[in-house]
Amino acid sequence: MAGLGEFELIARYFQRPTQPLGAGVALGVGDDCALLQPSPGMQWAVSSDMLVSGRHFFPDVDPRTLGHKALAVNLSDLAACGARPRAFTLALALPEADPAWLQPFSEGLFALADAHGCALVGGDTTRGPLNICITVMGEVPPGQALLRSGASPGDDIYVSGTLGDAALALQCLQGQITLPPAAMAQARQRLEQPTPRVALGLALRGTASAAADISDGLLGDLSHILKGSAVGATLDSIVAMNLLAARAHLTGANGTFDEQLTRGQALQCVLAGGDDYELVFTAAPAQADAVQAAARASGVTVTRVGRIEAAPGLRVVDGAGTLLAGPWASFDHFPR
Ligand code: ADP
Ligand code: MG
Repeated sequence: MAGLGEFELIARYFQRPTQPLGAGVALGVGDDCALLQPSPGMQWAVSSDMLVSGRHFFPDVDPRTLGHKALAVNLSDLAACGARPRAFTLALALPEADPAWLQPFSEGLFALADAHGCALVGGDTTRGPLNICITVMGEVPPGQALLRSGASPGDDIYVSGTLGDAALALQCLQGQITLPPAAMAQARQRLEQPTPRVALGLALRGTASAAADISDGLLGDLSHILKGSAVGATLDSIVAMNLLAARAHLTGANGTFDEQLTRGQALQCVLAGGDDYELVFTAAPAQADAVQAAARASGVTVTRVGRIEAAPGLRVVDGAGTLLAGPWASFDHFPR
């Protein structure tokens, strides 16, 4: 690394002298391995997510928001499992050792890490096309992780927060649509600085029957639950459309969409847009009050968007119960 040696870079930006070793961390950055100790009786929940320049983010994106997002997408997986974040590793390929990039990147990363008590315990640093791979480790009591396989016919389907705004921002940045400035500012925040729903995931232990985080679009990620649970579902598109936060900026007083975005485009963002990092989860109707209590306790709204059914497949209906025709392409890195 020209100008800044590899070890100087690690020491300056990723090894914090004052870093309190988090709960469960016996040894952090600096040796050949980190040493981790789960709390008595707990299981590790482990997940990796890689962000590749030009594929997952624009090369010139603000490095501070990129640091946030790289960890946020990983914490979102822990949230989906109902695991409590403890530690993470960071494997980084950088085209150059640029302090003007590294400083804000590490600040964005550590701000979110500290907010969740999740310690950076190691990693790898190499020269190469910009690529960020994080592995997170969290704790969960045995048998209590929220899995994709627990949904049963009759369960309600819920989504946290808002949906589709990240996809809207992406389409705007790609020049496919134009948005009013206020709508774009809000949507862009959702794309670049998603909020992992960690507290909600923890609060849903014992209440939700299945869960996944929405990284590739609601229909795609809900389909993982349906497949994992060998069930089907019907989704209410009218309710789902209300989850688009930017909707207020895009519709007239009568609630209809103006020329900036057709209703169909908006629905595609809500149902199949990626990058929202909300949770989609299921719960038995008897748990409806517990679901809302979990939402209140974690400061996020949850909305019932449909129902699990025995008949396989995923059906999208309008307010009158009429089936809407797809296809609703969700994101696939290797489409056939
Ligand atoms: P090794 O060659 O034994 O794999 P390295 O020389 O690559 O170790 O790294 C030295 C130390 O710095 C290790 O503890 C490693 O985990 C840590 N490290 C390397 N890169 C990073 C990074 N980007 N963030 C955090 N820790 C890192
Ligand atoms: Mg190494």
